[in-house]
This record gives sequence, structure tokens and C-alpha cells, in this order.
Amino acid sequence: MTQSSHYIEVALPLPLRRVFTYQYTLAKPAVLGARVRVPFGQRQLIGIITETRATAPQGFEAKPIVAQLDDDAVWQPELWQLLSWSADYYQHSQGDVFANALPVLLRQGKPIGYAPITYFELTSNAPDVDEHALKRAPKQKQLIELLQQGRLSATQVKQAQISTTVVTAACDKGWVVSVEETPILDAQQHWTMALSEDPLAVNQEQAVALSAIKQIDGHACCLLEGVTGSGKTEVYLQAIEEVLTAGRQVLVLVPEIGLTMQTIKRFKQRFDVPVEVLHSNLNDTERLHAWLNSRSNRAAIVIGTRSAIFTPFANLGMIVVDEEHDLSYKQQDGFRYHARDIAIKRAQLLDIPIILGSATPALETLSNAVNHRYHWLQLTQRAGVAEQVEHELIDLKGLPMQAGLSEPLLTQIEAELNKHNQVLLFLNRRGFAPALMCHECGWIAQCKRCDAYYTLHQAQRRLHCHHCDSQRPVPKQCEQCGSTHLISHGVGTEQLEDFLNERFPEHSVLRIDRDSTRRKGELDAHLKSASEHKHHILVGTQMLAKGHHFPNVTLVALLDVDGALYSADFRAPERLAQLFTQVSGRAGRAHKRGRVVLQTHHPEHDLVQDLLNNGYQHFALTALAERQATSLPPFKHWALVRAESTDKAQVVEALEQMAACLPQVDGVMGVGPIPALMEKRAGRYRYQWILQTSSRKQRYQVTKYLLSQWENLSILNRIRWSLDIDPQDFT
Ligand code: ADP
Ligand code: ZN
Ligand code: ZN
Repeated sequence: MTQSSHYIEVALPLPLRRVFTYQYTLAKPAVLGARVRVPFGQRQLIGIITETRATAPQGFEAKPIVAQLDDDAVWQPELWQLLSWSADYYQHSQGDVFANALPVLLRQGKPIGYAPITYFELTSNAPDVDEHALKRAPKQKQLIELLQQGRLSATQVKQAQISTTVVTAACDKGWVVSVEETPILDAQQHWTMALSEDPLAVNQEQAVALSAIKQIDGHACCLLEGVTGSGKTEVYLQAIEEVLTAGRQVLVLVPEIGLTMQTIKRFKQRFDVPVEVLHSNLNDTERLHAWLNSRSNRAAIVIGTRSAIFTPFANLGMIVVDEEHDLSYKQQDGFRYHARDIAIKRAQLLDIPIILGSATPALETLSNAVNHRYHWLQLTQRAGVAEQVEHELIDLKGLPMQAGLSEPLLTQIEAELNKHNQVLLFLNRRGFAPALMCHECGWIAQCKRCDAYYTLHQAQRRLHCHHCDSQRPVPKQCEQCGSTHLISHGVGTEQLEDFLNERFPEHSVLRIDRDSTRRKGELDAHLKSASEHKHHILVGTQMLAKGHHFPNVTLVALLDVDGALYSADFRAPERLAQLFTQVSGRAGRAHKRGRVVLQTHHPEHDLVQDLLNNGYQHFALTALAERQATSLPPFKHWALVRAESTDKAQVVEALEQMAACLPQVDGVMGVGPIPALMEKRAGRYRYQWILQTSSRKQRYQVTKYLLSQWENLSILNRIRWSLDIDPQDFT
């Protein structure tokens, strides 16, 4: 036993912002950054060694650890530093940050190494696919056809939408066997760069952007701002090419894998190198393998969503964040990090370039571009053959409406359908109707647990609260006056779909929202048949707005934008402008001219006018100036305390006590307690307190001080509360 490391500090996956001291009793030396198994109360936990210390802790007897699981640190110094920085920046439990960054199997204490994978193979007993035995078993037939081309892993079988029952049946018949195999770690099995298709000849703007990126020596952040279809992906591909040629790896962050399949396909098509895609369909073993492949330089490109930012790399040379404005980069619970912001930090620590791409940059990002902290690269023209889009406002005042559609819009829809074009309609409300109302007295069915109305789902004959998930059958009578004359109020996607089916019986309508894509694979299938023009009218929530390619869509309409114009959330206009611009990019992408129609009661609204006449960037710069004038982020730095309890008085009192700890410092202000945008949800009262500071450093110091003070407030044990640095959401 080495005398110098008698005790260790361990970061445990707990919400507590502290480390725990244990006695180190093993013969081999304690390794900083290695995993240990330690006793904690009645349980054992896996933690990470953050420090060794020679002296015993004061005032208590440190327990001995159970085991040290690794002989080396889990992470290279670079990632270790990034994780420590993240815990500090977000003032979050270090142990929880570490746990977030590990594949589940490692969190559970499994060894760092490849685990066995199950494969399925055909046996010599398998029947020929034309055989009679398979006539009435199309899934069995599909399985055998697939396996004839080679063995498949369990996940590949799942991805082909073949159920385990089908596979088990084939195994029982002796047609198929399962084999377990562990990939072998070969230390020198690295990739070499090869192109599998020629890059496109770039246009002038792309060339300017590329040369700026290629000139970067060391770290720099580039904002690649370009309308949809302007060729950003081509710029990523050619920028990456150079990095791969230099033998370095690349990380690409995307908002949602299911919605970015086309982009991923282009990466795989361009480069003949191993690509790891971290998507939610991976099982724990596959996730661990992807992690290992990246760490040991067996993967050249890693494409993944938010949490992929914590993937270890042997030799990372560039990071790309596609659709950098997307909200999904911000984790909304637990460790509330922003993957884009951590990506920028990571690129700084590694001294490598990072590209943020978007048609609609976040105002935070734009502000850095304006201040020359980022290279601002712009693509203003659509690449390829796509035509520009026309915009049109329909003033709804006084117009007759059917299922949320005005007569002029219906006329346009009809015209496009007659020309065999596709139409895309956005309505951000799923269900049949946002409310059920009594026609006699005006009573509206309201969720008892939330400040919200029930949504009517006609197909299931149910009322559903979209905030707490509570459901009930549609009542027969008004709860207030007993009348049976209950009517739906407002329009949801389900009703819109019903109406369109009735109005255009010759044309197929496809609805894409959370209700119609609940089952795995359903979204992909819907998107595929939509882009293949199997449906003429597409109805959807903003789920449909992200990066799809529907070449036949010539008319896009946003049916109801008024809500966002008068929202209490200061970011609502930015979000509407992003949605509008993104969907504009969905229209007329191929050879057809597209048109985007906005239905509103407020066509004269400044935001609407600015967007239509001057485009997203102009709107965004104006909005930025307004934020500066009103001292909103990014000109002030916010931290948000959310608190909730079934007892309203208690939650307000708790926040008041927290607010009272705020020191009087120049440039620091506390706002609240104020009710959340939805004051009551699932039976709990929700209040907020906002800390506003004039610099990040100041916010860091003040929150650190506050957290130490709040430890003494006993009332905090009686409510739920959390701290959110750079909050994005106030609902
Ligand atoms: P974005 O990523 O900005 O939406 P893409 O890179 O997907 O844009 O480009 C849109 C379309 O234009 C794609 O079909 C792409 O193949 C094509 N394209 C991009 N750059 C060029 C170019 N330089 N010449 C011809 N076609 C291009
Ligand atoms: Zn009534
Ligand atoms: Zn509810």
C-alpha cells in the first residue's frame, strides 16, 4: 500500500454538489479518473476518483472502497478537463456529469472492452424463399432473404422491422441460428482515408467559406449561415475531407437522428471510412462499442445527437454542429447542458476548428458573429437548381374558416393538387381540438392537475392533457350546467386531417405528429412515403419542419402563427422566425417554384413584416438590438431557479428565502418569485426566480456563493428545485 494515497475523493452519480472521501486499501496504486465501486448507505455505487489525499478526513471514519475497476483513467486529459469544466460551468454535480458521459454498461461497472454481440445466420436447413412453406409467412420470407446476403446482428434485424417472434420461430424450425461473438481488439486496426465519390464543384460562396475554414490554424469557431439548400452540407463534407486526409477524426452533431437520415447518408456516401452513428435504436452493447471505436481510432466520423459531445476520440480534428439553433441541443432536465456550447469549449481545449451551421442561427450565435468572435461565413444563394420561394400573407380577419383553413388558402391547395404537386400544412396542435366546450354556458373541460385545457382526441373518444398525460373519456354532459351540447373548440391536426379527407377525397392525406409516430420506425416510414410522393397533402406539427427533403412540395402553409406573436416567452418570436424560415426551405427544393403562406390576424405585425420583407437575418439582427435595449440574453447572463411543490405558499416562500440570499452587487439582479408560464402542472405549483448578471464570470461567482448559502435553508428540503444556467425554456 502506498502511504501517499491512503484516501481518495470520489465523484458519485448523485445530485449533491460534492465529492466523497473513501479509504483506499488496495495494493495497486489509486488512479485519478478511474472508476471505483464504493459502499454508499445500503447500496454500492460506481464513482470516479477525482483526487488522492494522504490525510484522514476530520470528524468521520472514511469507509474502504470495494474495488477499483480500471487500471487507467477512463478519459484522456482533454475530455476529463472538458467534463470538469462542464460541471463547474453548469454548477452541477461532478459525479452526475461523469455518469452522463459514460455508456450505460460502464456506468454499471462493466469492464472497458468489447462485449459479445448476437448475430443470426442461416443454416443449411433453411428453405428456399420460393418454397411453399413460406407462402403464407411474408416476414419469415423477408428474414431469410435478408440473411441470404449475410448474417445480421440483432439490431439490424430489429431495424428491418422483423420482430423477435419471427426470429424465434425461424430458430425453432432450425432455419436460423444465433451466434455470439466478441469483436477482437487489435491495437493497430485504424482506418485510412478514402473518398467513395467525387466532391461537387463548389460555387463561389461555398469556395469562400471553404477557404476560410481551411485557413484556420488551431482553434476558431465558424458560423456557416446559409438558407436551406444553399449547400452547407457540401461545405461540411469538403472541410471534413481535409481533416480526414490529415488522419484526424471528426465529430458531427445533429439535432435528431430520425430527422437527419438524408444528411447521414451523404456522409456515408462521400467517404469510404468507418462512420459511427449514435442513435436511440442502439442497444447498450452497441453504444459501448461505438464509444470504444471512437476512443481507439477505429471510427473516423462520429455522428450523433446531444450526448455525442461526450464521445472520447483518439485524435479529434474538427467538430461540426448542424442546425446549431435547434432546441434539442439543450438538455431540459438533470444535467442541463447545451451541447453546442460544450462543443465550442471542447474545440477550444483541443485547439481545433468548429463549424456551426444553420439557416436560422440562434441570436446568441449571431451576436458572436457580429462581434467577430466567430468567422461569419454566409451562403445566400441556393445551390444546385432549386428555385427561390415566394411568400404570402393571408389576413384572417373576417374570413370564413373551415378546420383552420381560410377560403383563399383552400383555393391554392386545390390548384396545387390539380397540378400534381404536394402541399405541406403546419399546425402546432395535435389532437382533434385544443378544447371541449359547452355550447350552452361556455364551460371548458380543464385538467384538474394543470393550468391547461384537455385536448380532445376524437378517434379515441378521449380527453387528454398534453402536460401531465392524464386522460379521461369524453364526458356526455357539461359539468357546469348539465347540457349535452358539447362542442369542440379550435382545430388540431386530427381534425384538419379529417376535414381534408372529406374535402379532397381523391387525394391522400398523411398526418405526421407525435400521435401518428408513436411506434418505432413509424416516423421513418411516414417520411419515406411522404418524400416518395405517395401522399398529396402532408399535415404536421413542427416535427415536420426539420431537414426533410420533399422535392414535390410547392405550397407550405403555417395555419396559425398568432400565438407566437403575443407570447410571454421572450424567445417565441425567434422560434417562430426559425420555423418560418425552415419551412420556407422545404418548399420548391427541386425544379419547382415554391410558395409559403402565413395565416394571421395580424399581418401588420412588425415581426411578420420584417421576416417577409427582409428575411431571417435582418429580423434576427433587429431582435438582437431589441434584446440589447431591454437587457435580455445574450446581453445579460441568466440563471433560472425552478421550484415546485403541491403547496403554493411553500414554494413561493422557498424562492423568497433563496432570493433573500442575493448579495448587493453592481450589475446583478434577481427577478421573482414569478409563476412559470404554466403555473400548475400535474398537481404541482411551479415558480421561478431569475438571476441576471452582466458577465458569465459574475454569474459564476454569484451562483457559487448562493449555492453555499442555500445549503442552510431547511425549507428547500420540502420542495423540488433545480438550477438552470443559460435557460432556454420558461414553460
Ligand atoms: P444545405 O445543407 O444548406 O441544406 P445541401 O448541401 O444539402 O444544402 O445542398 C442542397 C442541394 O444542392 C443538394 O442536393 C446538393 O447536392 C446540391 N449542391 C450543393 N452544393 C452544390 C454545388 N456546388 N453544385 C451543385 N449542386 C450542389
Ligand atoms: Zn354548460
Ligand atoms: Zn394535466
